[in-house]
Amino acid sequence: MVVYTVTGNVGQAGYLDIANSGDITGKNIYVNMTNRCPCSCVFCLRQTKKMMEGNSLWLRGGEPSVEGVMSIFDKYDLSVINELVFCGYGEPLERLHDVCKVIDLLHGKYPKLKVRLNTNGLANLIHGRDVTPDLEGRFNTVSISMNAPDAEEFLELTRSRFGIQSFDAVKEFAVLAKEHVPNVVMTVVEKVMPEEKIERCRKICEELGVTLRVRPFEN
Ligand code: SF4
Repeated sequence: MVVYTVTGNVGQAGYLDIANSGDITGKNIYVNMTNRCPCSCVFCLRQTKKMMEGNSLWLRGGEPSVEGVMSIFDKYDLSVINELVFCGYGEPLERLHDVCKVIDLLHGKYPKLKVRLNTNGLANLIHGRDVTPDLEGRFNTVSISMNAPDAEEFLELTRSRFGIQSFDAVKEFAVLAKEHVPNVVMTVVEKVMPEEKIERCRKICEELGVTLRVRPFEN
């Protein structure tokens, strides 16, 4: 499933292909262009057998081309939606170039389209350069998963292939992104993270000058 809507909160989310989402007026539309990711988070279903077999966000047919994604969007009027969100089971910026291309094509048609990136914040390590200038004029919001209040726990949870430098890289990405994107937030999930750790994350975000968003978890 490449383009979809989400029902429910974290933990009980349901994914509906845009073709089955009915009236998309006022909705957030999600785009899933890759399953690649430098992490292997302990809580991510991406690697599990169940995910491979049953989950609709696993791109069984491989990654869609830019043209393939655009051909889906061609069927809908995106001027009525709330926000377009690049996310999915994978890190969207693994396909930085293609994601930018899709946004540019869509902005050509919908100059006011609001676009958000949900990211692990590791794109600068993935590409070996500061990619945040590429986000300018394309994304209104960058939402970065913070996952942990320190480098050791971050690595334990995410099992990032970049090792212990990953947490600092995520924080640096947030600071750099602020120069190019109006709204940069870091997120943690409530109940998954104890209050004391959320407070430590909040302090770090204050120091970085970004907002911490505590996402609701519902069982
Ligand atoms: S960063 Fe996201 S996509 Fe990648 S392993 Fe972690 S939860 Fe899964």
